[in-house]
Amino acid sequence: MSELTDLYQEVILDHNRRPHNFRVIEGATSQEGYNPLCGDRLTLYVAMDGGVIRDVAFQGSGCAISKASASLMTDALKGKTADEARALFDQFHAMITSDHAGPTADLGKLSVLAGVREFPSRIKCASLAWHTMKAAVAHHSDATVSTE
Ligand code: ZN
Repeated sequence: MSELTDLYQEVILDHNRRPHNFRVIEGATSQEGYNPLCGDRLTLYVAMDGGVIRDVAFQGSGCAISKASASLMTDALKGKTADEARALFDQFHAMITSDHAGPTADLGKLSVLAGVREFPSRIKCASLAWHTMKAAVAHHSDATVSTE
């Protein structure tokens, strides 16, 4: 795990220890997500109100990267419209998959996850919650989302 040291910054470790919005939202749209490469599993709950994400939360188990990413994502999504959430997905995905260190959109706290671009096997850990969110917002909530 030593090569991942740079990834495990304080913010990521803190969100892993005490994830934000780690709970069930009764009556909300729920969506399962699974990353078979690492074994990360989560259930995302999205409560929409008039096209706006009123509340978003998750439960599950996985590595520090997957949990921290879900925790940071839920913080970032509250109050966003579905379109804004999809735009944020695109910006986040570009940030963690970009193979050049050029400027990316200012994603605030989400930027702590930019380091995963150096570790291709970890990109799916960081993107699992986001793929799951995209499906939940689109109301494609029947099937488990897999990163494969
Ligand atoms: Zn993982």
